Amino acid sequence: MRWLPGAKGHKCGLPASRVATGRAGRSDPVDSIGNGYAVLSAVRLAVPATAPRALLMPFTLAHPIAVLPFRWIWRQGFIALAFGSLGPDIPYFLPASISNFGISTHTAQGALTLGAALALALLGCTVLLRPLLVAPLWGRARLFVERELGAFTKSPWVCLQALPAVAIGSWSHFVADSATHPDGWIVNHVAALRAELPVLGIAVPVYHVMQYLFSILGLGILALWYQRELHELDGCVDPGAPARPRELVVLCVVSVITGVSSAIFAGDFFSSVHGHIYVMTTSTLATWIMLYTLYGAGILIFGRRR
Ligand SMILES: [Zn+2]
Repeated sequence: MRWLPGAKGHKCGLPASRVATGRAGRSDPVDSIGNGYAVLSAVRLAVPATAPRALLMPFTLAHPIAVLPFRWIWRQGFIALAFGSLGPDIPYFLPASISNFGISTHTAQGALTLGAALALALLGCTVLLRPLLVAPLWGRARLFVERELGAFTKSPWVCLQALPAVAIGSWSHFVADSATHPDGWIVNHVAALRAELPVLGIAVPVYHVMQYLFSILGLGILALWYQRELHELDGCVDPGAPARPRELVVLCVVSVITGVSSAIFAGDFFSSVHGHIYVMTTSTLATWIMLYTLYGAGILIFGRRR
């Protein structure tokens, strides 16, 4: 089969008054125009001329699974670790015109430098924009985000730990990718990863199966961890606080429709199922991030509450 190229204290971690309210890279040969494709396609359903390198990698949001064990041994550094694990894929969510940094984030050196720097910048922006990001949330989800991001504004020590944490997280991304795509260092040194398995009558390389397992299991385990974190915040919010999931459901539906449309309109270039899955998931994520940010900004600007 042809594969495409390419705080200690209160468990809520917030002052009692807040608890009471409770509411709410450089272009590789295979990705020369791939950078920013997700965002662009989400907006205009554009079809790129070549496949991005990310076609060969696990879904971006699954990468924090590689650093999840640190949650129990380096709690203050975990959020920065998680952001670091996303770092090397950040160029794929940026327009090509501003993401051609001259170095690939998917090399050993690039992950530790540019990948970590991008992750640190994303973390900094997220902390600065946290009022906007928590505005659409309510209840335990809002408390969780406020607690985790608020820690960076309360302790210089937490900020200092973010520097090595993003580098380690970004390196974990490089390692995970190198075990799940054909030109990865681990794949090239472990013959078993290059063996082929029969999947629905098709010979599929083990590294490719691992890519899907990493993505699916990673997202599943992270979802379970998130539910566990929310469960710890039981009793920290006002049970009568208003919730408004309808708007977020609309955002999700619009994002999925955009992602599916992007995959459909990707045309013949993405001639494999894998390529279309990549386009769909990445475009869905990029659209959701854009719409969620705009929605949060709208709430802050217009003070829309119910
Ligand atoms: Zn990657």
